[in-house]
Formats: sequence, structure tokens, C-alpha cells
Amino acid sequence: MSKLPTQKLYINGGYVDATSGQTFETINPATGEVICDVQIASSADVDKAVAAAKAGFKIWSKMSGTERSRILLRAVALLRERNDELAALEVTDTGKPLQEANCVDVESGAECIEYFAGLAASLNGEHIQLANGNFAFTRKEPLGVCGAIGAWNYPIQIACWKSAPALACGNAMVYKASEVTPLTALKLAEIYTEAGLPDGVFNVVSGLGPVGQMLAEHEGIEKISLTGSVPTGKRVMESAAKTLKHVTLELGGKSPLIVFEDAKLDNAVSAAMLANFYTQGEICSNGTRVYVHKDIKDKFIEKLIARTEKMIIGDPMHPDTQVGSLIHRDHMEKVLGYIEIGKKEGANLAYGGKQVTVKGFEKGNFLQPAIFTNVTADMRIAREEIFGAVMSVITFSDEDEVVAAANDTQFGLAAGVFTQDITRAHRVIANLEAGTCWINNYNITPIEMPFGGYKQSGIGRENGTVAVDHFTQLKSVYVEMGDVDCPY
Ligand code: NDP
Repeated sequence: MSKLPTQKLYINGGYVDATSGQTFETINPATGEVICDVQIASSADVDKAVAAAKAGFKIWSKMSGTERSRILLRAVALLRERNDELAALEVTDTGKPLQEANCVDVESGAECIEYFAGLAASLNGEHIQLANGNFAFTRKEPLGVCGAIGAWNYPIQIACWKSAPALACGNAMVYKASEVTPLTALKLAEIYTEAGLPDGVFNVVSGLGPVGQMLAEHEGIEKISLTGSVPTGKRVMESAAKTLKHVTLELGGKSPLIVFEDAKLDNAVSAAMLANFYTQGEICSNGTRVYVHKDIKDKFIEKLIARTEKMIIGDPMHPDTQVGSLIHRDHMEKVLGYIEIGKKEGANLAYGGKQVTVKGFEKGNFLQPAIFTNVTADMRIAREEIFGAVMSVITFSDEDEVVAAANDTQFGLAAGVFTQDITRAHRVIANLEAGTCWINNYNITPIEMPFGGYKQSGIGRENGTVAVDHFTQLKSVYVEMGDVDCPY
């Protein structure tokens, strides 16, 4: 593929040159080739984007919810029309398999915009009756300009998940994608403009961490929403504290998936594979600690390995490929490092974990999915987020013991339980300290369902009607129907 033109910033409804004079390269992880150079926003550019967003906000927030909805739904149609082209670009930038991007990434973004477009016209407050005919009412008002910062694993999906509720509620947004995957957020900006979004309502400022920090600190931005790691989340919250911004944080995890002895075994194996190997394991909510009851452990592992062995690793653009390239060389080294740590700590590497050379893609970062057995709770592979396809299988025998072990972590993003016993399923889920849970499935994230973490996995929620609360502020208005009762 020949190098694409240098990517500019997207401010006020169109592409503009950054004033920093600096660029960075975005690389195709599967080939090591430079896809293109990307201009880095300076603080003056960020100011310009915020000013454009303020101007856009004035127009957008005055429109009715129905008008906003109509424009957002046009963007949904454009996203779906361009699904294949956008999915291919996403694969080029992330290294994930086309068979995933083609049916999940763009579509999940489109569904999210569709869902919030549907809510836009009914964002009403309450009417509260008071004594003597007086009353109060509440208005759900937009916050103003919102900043958003994305991670690299689901670039277009994250940009949609953040912008959809923000825009539906009447806010404007300045968005920064990860420096590793900066391309599809710019495409989303183009699509919004084509759909009729007023200029300035959605802007993209590319760059490295400092550009994110500028957004988190900016006086003109009322809210910051981050998807990223726990350390970055802490930094963003600290930066946002300077102006007391609203903050939503979608951070990392080390989530438990508990398989009881009565589980439907094939379903549990399917879920464990999806919970660990989808997108090369680069998913925040992955169930990387798989607790399997001792009575079914051997059968579970046997089936798991038999199916994992068949997974097709290769060219991410090939429709048959199920495991693509990890995002970059450093990340692959990190994942390989954890595999070595697991072995040294005494876990049994039951399958995979080796680097794979794919013909024609020698510079790619391909790894076999790894399955560790005999893992114990104190091992680093069972405690730290690896963000690669490394599954730890941990045996248990008792419900209370497994719930305690599952909760023994600073993270609390997600959790899953497999059992046919309905009361046990609900009892266990109620006792798990995690924000997003599944019974007899894993990693299903319908837009209608709120998504987010407990503990250090985050603050706030994305998706579902609750996301509206994170992108609006409530104004209470008291209405006096009589005279002012005054003692002076
Ligand atoms: P990072 O935390 O490294 O980066 C996230 C974003 O923050 C990037 O755009 C990054 O920019 C930016 N950033 C870095 N430093 C700062 C700063 N000081 N102030 C503001 N912004 C900053 O995460 P990754 O991109 O490596 O993504 C992987 C992580 O994201 C994992 O921990 C994963 O669990 C989590 N994640 C959470 C999800 C959730 O919904 N809970 C979903 C997906 C991922 P740059 O890339 O340019 O450095």
C-alpha cells in the first residue's frame, strides 16, 4: 500500500494544518509500514478547536432534539454505507482481523449513534408539584464543550461511543484519538460534517499524550471522557481537577470469568476464548482470570486447547484470519515478557504464547494465544493487566472462595459466571465487585446496556440511558405562583 497523504487536524468542519510543525507516523502493525504522517496539534490548535466547539455548541444546543437526531441518523447511514472502507482502514491501523472489524467496530459505533439519536428528542426533566400551587421543574441541559480521549484497541467505536451521547445531548466535542490509531476518528469527523452537523460541533486534534493533557486541563472544556489505562486515568483526573471538570473514565481490568461444575461446557469454553482471544486479547473487559471448578477442569482445558489450536493467525486483511497483529513491537515484547514471567512463577504454559512469523508479514507482531494452567492468585499474570491473548486458568472448589478470589483485585471492570443454577448465578453476580457482568456469556456489550467499571477500572458509565446523565447537567427551577412571603 502506498503511503497516504499527511493527515491534518479537523477543526470547525474541515481539515486545517497544525501550527506545531510537528508530525508523527502511524504504522500498520501487521507490516511495519508507515501508513502516513499525522500532524500534531499545538496548544494554539487546541485553543482553536475549543473556540470552534464553543461556536458550534451555540448553534447545536439550540436545535431541537428531533433536529439533532435527524442529523445523527444521517451519520449512522453514512457509517453503514462506508462500513467496508472504514473497517479496512481500522484493520490497517490496528492490526485486528478484518472479520471482526467488518461486523463489529463500525457497526457498534453506528448503533451507538442510532441509539442516542433515538433518545435525543426525549431528554426531558421532571415536573414537581409543591404547596400552594407552586411547582418546580428540572431541565437536562448540555454541559458545553466536552473533551474526549481514546485508546487504540477500538478507535472508531470509542470515538462513536463518546461522541454519540455527547452530541445527542447538545454538547460539542474536541476529540483526541490514540497516537497509535489516529485515522478513523478523522473519518468520523468527515462523516458528521457530511451528515449536516454544524461546523465546530465535532473536532479532532491529533497528537501524543500532552495533547490529551491539554484537553483535560483546558478552561474552555467542561468535561473530559477518557478510555485508557489506569495510570493515564489518574493523570487525567488530576489534570481535570484544576478546573473541576466532570470526568468519565473507562480504564483497564483483570476480570474474572467463573465456570461452575454445572456449566454448559462448550458454551463456557466459547466464552473463555472470546473473553481472551478476540482482538488479540486487546480488550479492556477481557475475562483473563478464568476460574474453573476442579471437577470439570480437565475436560474444560482439553476442549479449550483443541479449539484454540485451530485459530487462524495471519494477515489481518484476509477474511479467514482470526488472530491478527498486536498493536506494536513494544506491546508484543510486553506480552511476551508476561509469558516468561508466568513460566518463571511456576504456571504451566499449556498452549501457545510463541511468536509467529507470517509469510509476507515478517515485521508484524503475531503471537499464538496463550493458555496458562496451574495459575495461582499471587502470580503477576493473574494480577496485572496484560492486554494480550494470555489466559490464566485457575482451579477452585468452593463458591465463597472463588468470589473472594475474584474480588481480590484493584480492578472492577467486568465479570462473568457460567452455571445452570439460576439462584447461584444471581447470588454470585450480586457479590462480585464489577461494573459490567454477564451470566452465561461474556463480553457482549449491547448499546442499551450501561458499560463501565467499579474500583480503579473507572468512573461513570458509557451507553444506556445513564450516559445521558454524564453528558447533561440538571437545572432545577422553582416557580412561585403567589406572593413573596417576606418578614421584613
Ligand atoms: P493509554 O492510557 O496509554 O492511553 C489512552 C489515551 O490517553 C491515549 O489517547 C493517550 O495518548 C492519552 N494520554 C496519554 N497520556 C495522557 C495524559 N497525561 N493526559 C491525557 N491523555 C493522555 O491507553 P492505551 O491507548 O494504551 O489503551 C490501553 C488501555 O486502555 C488498557 O489499559 C485498556 O484496559 C484500556 N481500555 C479501557 C476500556 C474501557 O472501556 N474500560 C476500553 C479500551 C481500552 P497517546 O496514545 O497519544 O499516548
